[in-house]
Amino acid sequence: MELLLLALCCLHVLKTEAVVGNWCYRSQKCEQPQCEDPPRWHLVNAECKGSRQSPVNIVTKNVVYDKSLKPLTFEGYDVKGSAKWVLENNGHTVKVALDSSPKIGGGGLGRKYKAVEFHLHWGVPQEPQNIPGSEHSIDGEKYPMELHVVHIREDASNVAEAKKNPDGLAVLAFFVKADEENKNYATLLSKLENIQFKGQSAQMDPLPLMSLLPPEKDLWKYYRYQGSLTTPDCYEGVIWTIFEKPVELSLPQLSKFAALQFDTKNSTAMTENFRPAQPLNGRKVLWSGASTALPVAELLLLPLALTCTLSSLSH
Ligand SMILES: [Zn+2]
Repeated sequence: MELLLLALCCLHVLKTEAVVGNWCYRSQKCEQPQCEDPPRWHLVNAECKGSRQSPVNIVTKNVVYDKSLKPLTFEGYDVKGSAKWVLENNGHTVKVALDSSPKIGGGGLGRKYKAVEFHLHWGVPQEPQNIPGSEHSIDGEKYPMELHVVHIREDASNVAEAKKNPDGLAVLAFFVKADEENKNYATLLSKLENIQFKGQSAQMDPLPLMSLLPPEKDLWKYYRYQGSLTTPDCYEGVIWTIFEKPVELSLPQLSKFAALQFDTKNSTAMTENFRPAQPLNGRKVLWSGASTALPVAELLLLPLALTCTLSSLSH
């Protein structure tokens, strides 16, 4: 009897496991009909239907100005590391592992966080489709691409250990817009053809992380909210910082990412590797950059006030 129960139990487990496929993006469904696309990610990890998921659409009229959100401090971001960068096609994105010396702090973060990797999300940059592929959006508008620099708590030795805390990760998100050619991305982009297929990796000389970001003087304006990773396991313990100023890449540069494929030989081009926006569920999005300019009326009154002050002084 017990054996029978055990057998039934095993069958049940096998069946359950067989039903749940690997997670994938919607653009992979044609090639892999059995895979779980974003609306079904909770079957892979229940946390994906949690109440603090990412990405989100940021509605600017609803953001809350928070004067404690000073500019972040970037430590080691302008230093070229000693270890080679390893670029990897992991079947979902191109990911570059970092030797975790660059750190961020300040900017309303409760502690320092160290960078462990960066990766990107994109759509289809070319006409006629032209699908913007950023994960976050501002007032419903998406950018062609989004860069994520993933950090873990300074006191954690790896991502798994960091995730044991409710504030284990801090991700810096930068939108990428189509504009002038960005020479700082040339080497990285030239390596993409060497990692066309899932599981392939390539090495390159390291760069200062800052060279891939917008100028530091433009980084004081950002949005902040509490969310999750945007891929399974959808871990909710991510402090998100989304910068207003985008990185610039040219259209031909943006197009190079479509050389990657989701799988091995003759598979689908890696495009639209983004998760759709998730509900805020009452979360507040904070904003660091209230306008420091005086309202127009005050600006107009200023010369008048100065004239009066000066004339009263001269009397
Ligand atoms: Zn990401």
